Amino acid sequence: MEKHTSSAQWAQHVINQHEIDKYLIDGDDFVNESKINLSLRQNRDPSPSQIHDILEKSLAIHNLSPAETAALLNVTSAEQWDLIFATALAVKRKVYDNRIVFFAPLYASNLCVNNCAYCGFRSANNLEIRRMLTAQEIVSETHAILQEGHKRIVMVVGEHQNTAVDYLCRAIKTAYSVEYKSLKSGCISRIRRVNVNAAPMDIASLKRLKEAGIGTYQVFQETYHHQTYRKVHPANTIKGDYRWRLYAHHRALEAGLEDVAIGALFGLYDWRFEVMGLVYHAIDLERQFRIGPHTISFPRLNPALGSELSINSPWQVSDADFKKLVAVLRLAVPTAGLIITAREKAELKKEVIQVGCTQTDASTRIGVGSYSKNENAESFDSEQFILGDSRNLDELIQEMIQQGNIPSFCTAGYRCGRTGSAIFGMLSKCDEGKFCKLNAVLTFREYLNDFASDSTRILGESILQKEMTAIETMDYFKNKPHLLQKFHHDYSQLAAGKRDVYI
Ligand code: SAM
Ligand code: SF4
Repeated sequence: MEKHTSSAQWAQHVINQHEIDKYLIDGDDFVNESKINLSLRQNRDPSPSQIHDILEKSLAIHNLSPAETAALLNVTSAEQWDLIFATALAVKRKVYDNRIVFFAPLYASNLCVNNCAYCGFRSANNLEIRRMLTAQEIVSETHAILQEGHKRIVMVVGEHQNTAVDYLCRAIKTAYSVEYKSLKSGCISRIRRVNVNAAPMDIASLKRLKEAGIGTYQVFQETYHHQTYRKVHPANTIKGDYRWRLYAHHRALEAGLEDVAIGALFGLYDWRFEVMGLVYHAIDLERQFRIGPHTISFPRLNPALGSELSINSPWQVSDADFKKLVAVLRLAVPTAGLIITAREKAELKKEVIQVGCTQTDASTRIGVGSYSKNENAESFDSEQFILGDSRNLDELIQEMIQQGNIPSFCTAGYRCGRTGSAIFGMLSKCDEGKFCKLNAVLTFREYLNDFASDSTRILGESILQKEMTAIETMDYFKNKPHLLQKFHHDYSQLAAGKRDVYI
């Protein structure tokens, strides 16, 4: 890679215009604001029968059109919303069963050349203490995360010459190399999936991330509204280029990274518009690559140190609207995983998970280096924003079980080739959910043996029994006895101390 002497010089070489232009349609990007606004206007006051048909379409695991999404977003009756919420959960159960996958974010660096108005890491924020983790610190952080029982991390960095792709590849390799020996069982745990949330990159860099063995590549557009985007991302920064960001996932798919994750930072502009933007994003990825987003995230603006906008934005989304937008996303893109994070407060998170989320974080620390220092959520100086939910994994697992969900640490998909178009087909046919259930049972069994508190173990044993009985009676497995056989074999191997078995 070309060496640049200064950060400014480096920044000038990050964007490759050709790797934007090739995805445009007649020179335009896929976010046509007049079309979105027209659709939102034209689909006001949808009739109950219209809503019924839309919900049926989603239940049949078909993506909704922008017009159908707009109709749902325009529903005003509380009764209709209750129906939407219930259907959203039903769709989730059909595609992903009742599993909730856990992960932990690992903030590796808060160095950043950008100046996003909402973020504590922005370059103009002098209150932020800057640091990037050394290899030894990545080991300590990963070790502390493993100690909680996690198997999946998302590595997060700001955008900076020192933490670009070379650093990320090294950090990922280091995280995969760490081992933790359970005090309860003596069994060894490792991180099995490192996802990455980092700035948009060119195709050559993305190929290197693939070689480093990442799971999902995650970039949030923040806002799909062009004018708002310009307002909150200064033009003289890399992030100021809307289209470089908009086509980050296109480049990733072209580089062979099959699991890409989109998202919007809700609270910067009208939430209905952002949902439409996410839907158009999913449509364009499918149109150009036949692969939809692996997951969709909907972070909500949280107060950040030294950011006026993060406290005073006129577009803050209420809790009630937040629940609505998650349910509509669930219905509009039924195959996408939905991630709710510890930005949200415990009570709301509990409620919103039940409209179709598939993943959440736990034991979350967002300070750079704060897992191993055991800093609490109140230590501000190297954090990006303030957390809403600082509960640990064990506590959250108890809540999930009480809600009828099975906690999962499954990372089988990308290791068995169930990524990209392969997983996409299985999700659409509702086959993947069956594997989710088997792998949820296997990985939760591991958790119970290696990490669970006594009270979680009691609750956990009962849900495992219930799930095992359900598996025995599922028609899907009756026709596939070899799968059931492997499942039983793997389950018994866990008791014998074997780890990391999956189907
Ligand atoms: N620097 C990379 C980038 O901007 O793509 C990735 C890391 S950034 C730390 C991860 C995400 O945090 C951003 O994409 C944004 O959506 C979110 N974020 C930033 N400020 C936030 C705030 N005040 N509240 C909630 N989420 C925030
Ligand atoms: Fe930097 Fe990302 Fe924060 Fe923007 S959102 S200031 S790019 S870390």
